[in-house]
Amino acid sequence: MNHFQYKANELYAEDVRLADIVAKVGSPVYVYSHATLERHFKAFDGAFASVPHTVCYSVKANSTQSVLKTFINLGGGVDIVSGGELYRALKAGVDPKKVVYSGVGKKDEEIEYALNTGILMFNVESEQELTRISEIASRLGKKAGIAIRVNPDVDPGTHPYITTGLKNAKFGITIDRAMEEYKRAAGLPGIEVIGIDMHIGSQLTKVNPFVDSIEKLKVMIGKLKEMGINLQYFDCGGGLGIQYNNEEPPLPADYGKEIIAATKDLGLHLVFEPGRNIVGNAGILVARCLYTKARDEKNFIMIDAGMNDLARPALYGSFHSVQALKKDQDGLITADIVGPICESGDFLVKDREVPMFKQGDLMAFMSAGAYGFAMSSSYNSRPRVAEVMVKGGAFEIIRERETIEDLIKGEKVATFL
Ligand SMILES: *Cc1c(COP(=O)(O)O)cnc(C)c1O
Repeated sequence: MNHFQYKANELYAEDVRLADIVAKVGSPVYVYSHATLERHFKAFDGAFASVPHTVCYSVKANSTQSVLKTFINLGGGVDIVSGGELYRALKAGVDPKKVVYSGVGKKDEEIEYALNTGILMFNVESEQELTRISEIASRLGKKAGIAIRVNPDVDPGTHPYITTGLKNAKFGITIDRAMEEYKRAAGLPGIEVIGIDMHIGSQLTKVNPFVDSIEKLKVMIGKLKEMGINLQYFDCGGGLGIQYNNEEPPLPADYGKEIIAATKDLGLHLVFEPGRNIVGNAGILVARCLYTKARDEKNFIMIDAGMNDLARPALYGSFHSVQALKKDQDGLITADIVGPICESGDFLVKDREVPMFKQGDLMAFMSAGAYGFAMSSSYNSRPRVAEVMVKGGAFEIIRERETIEDLIKGEKVATFL
């Protein structure tokens, strides 16, 4: 359920006509529904109401300040994967004690920044990283709370690029090495072992891979207890999928029931790192048809948004449904909807039946709230687009459209030229 619906023949975000946003802000533009963001956060958070838990929203899915602030206002923490994300989350007002830090390539200065901030825990992804965190924490006279991100070698059944919990993936410490590392961690001077962590992939549409992974980690938790290492946190990661097309992912409530059942005798505080599940269907990308052309059996619809604005179709072959802002198109047409970028991978829709868009028509790419703007770039020197948040009958620009001057910000012509 989201708040992008037709009223009469026009597409709205909550009570705002999307065409009115474009009239004021231009296109392309990302539009988020505040009510949908809240609804999705509360649905996820509510699924775990009966157990101690923290929802640490995964910043990388959508790191815009107003989006972060929406979840922080609801009591959310964050899962970060860089110092830049920590900065963003702190600026949006996150409680440092609700920050968990994942990622395979944490740099010294990022580790130091996180330690000085006083985050809850580092999710450690390699043996060397564990040693480095201990060294830096010792130098600062601090103890770093850590969990080991265990790679459980479970297939999440999703796209290879977003599969992270198989043992040939770069993520985490393999389950057979993890016990050794826990032993070592317990003896390191700058380390306080407080948790265990997993994140097996993204856009999962089944609960079993989560439960299978949890079962594997539970065995470890038991052994650690016997060794006198008592954990406080079980970070179950993110990855719960959404409906883009005809997928049928479990509802957060159903996911919650199974996770609670699998973890209930542990008595640990649960941490979750959902990204896509909360923001995915709360945002859309609105674009305008520039031209159309027909070539033998193939129809092209050229629009003012491209793979630099929404990379997922080019990167993963992802599906985004497309809807006309005004339902006055004359029927349907099988076409590619393509951007202005000089790459053949620059399409948002491939060989699909879509409304017969004409020059000037506006369209919305649905389910673009996660890994949409956050993955955008200015490739082909296209300024990054504006973002707007709608609440009820009001809307505000939450990120200005970049200008062409922004494109060369920080550039210098070498003095020898
Ligand atoms: C990307 C990521 C997430 C969020 O994944 P979603 O599929 O968007 O929920 C959570 N945790 C980690 C460590 C990640 O890298």
